[in-house]
Amino acid sequence: MRQDTTRQCIIPPHVLERLLESDDAAIRSAAMTTLLTTARLRGEREVRASLVRLAATGQGRRTVFDCRKSTSLPMCSLARSEDGPPSADLSVNQAFDGLGSTRQFYQDVLERNSIDDRGMRLDGYVHRGVKYNNAFWNGQVMVFGDGDGIIFTDFTASLDVIAHELTHGVTEHTAGLDYHNQSGALNESMSDVMGVLVKQWSLQQTADQADWLIGADIFTPGIGADALRSLKAPGQAYDNKLLGKDPQPAHMRDYVQLPDTDDGDNGGVHINSGIPSKAFYLTAVEIGGYAWEAAGRIWYESLRASTATTEFQAFADTTFSKAGELYGIDSAEQQAVQAGWDGVGITVTAEPTTMRGSAAPTGTDSVGDVLRHLAEMSASIDALRRDLQGQAVGGGRPAPPA
Ligand SMILES: [Zn+2]
Repeated sequence: MRQDTTRQCIIPPHVLERLLESDDAAIRSAAMTTLLTTARLRGEREVRASLVRLAATGQGRRTVFDCRKSTSLPMCSLARSEDGPPSADLSVNQAFDGLGSTRQFYQDVLERNSIDDRGMRLDGYVHRGVKYNNAFWNGQVMVFGDGDGIIFTDFTASLDVIAHELTHGVTEHTAGLDYHNQSGALNESMSDVMGVLVKQWSLQQTADQADWLIGADIFTPGIGADALRSLKAPGQAYDNKLLGKDPQPAHMRDYVQLPDTDDGDNGGVHINSGIPSKAFYLTAVEIGGYAWEAAGRIWYESLRASTATTEFQAFADTTFSKAGELYGIDSAEQQAVQAGWDGVGITVTAEPTTMRGSAAPTGTDSVGDVLRHLAEMSASIDALRRDLQGQAVGGGRPAPPA
């Protein structure tokens, strides 16, 4: 199994931990409950993800369950199904619509059939727990808390949060990026990228019209925070007494070294994700128009070409190759990708474009080509050496290398 301990919740631990220090007992208590339950969920996720892979092909049918403050998912009751009527409960309908928009985005824009590309059903659980300050994907279903009402509101209200969580499922079924250190930060960043893209797509906003925020809708009014994260300006999503300051870096020179522990956010997966997220933002704005069209396609294809241990540099190189493959070598799109990564201090390293013929394979194949080429060269050198040795001893020509 590629995923190990994961904590793919929308609210990162450093935010909840900060709330534990609040003067308000209600805030402290909600944060504590959320942290404790989150820790318990981690073990379940791995098992669920493996069960899902056994499921048959479907149509991504949605079902929403009402937990009525229970934390036990089997106790939650059916509230709305794919063909059923809308509910009287706003959270049920918001979750249903959010799952639908995300499914539709993947289908229409990226030609992906639900999370697993096999029409996996989408189950949402709303009103989970009492004042639960989080939303998460558990490898099988999407679960939403109501928020404590003081800092966070109903998590079903945010389409980017829903798309963020479901994208963890997509990543799990493609690259399977390990949820630690740089690969984990890429995993988080990919969820934020697709999170904002689903929202931009649903609002039909161009790159320069969009706010590029994640979680702008989950803070209660008057909390003094724009959002949870900003792809446009990592580190500037919030700055106030209650939450502290957004710790995300926007450049490699500010990369935050953290231990690969729970307290260290698995090596800063929610923190250093600001770097690749900013690279995406810069790329999309440079290309212009709708971010989901070229930039989104390049990032998605790069995710599919990545592996569990892919880090920033390799991912940047892959996006550059994919841009060349999809839009042409030296195209405006490929130049935008290069500039995007430059803007966060990562220089893409790819073969010089003049070395590639039009028929040459690109992307991950180019590494294989180089290796093959090296093997051929080394075989030629061996042959030459044997040739020379043969001449020196006056023998005949050796057999050519196989
Ligand atoms: Zn996440």
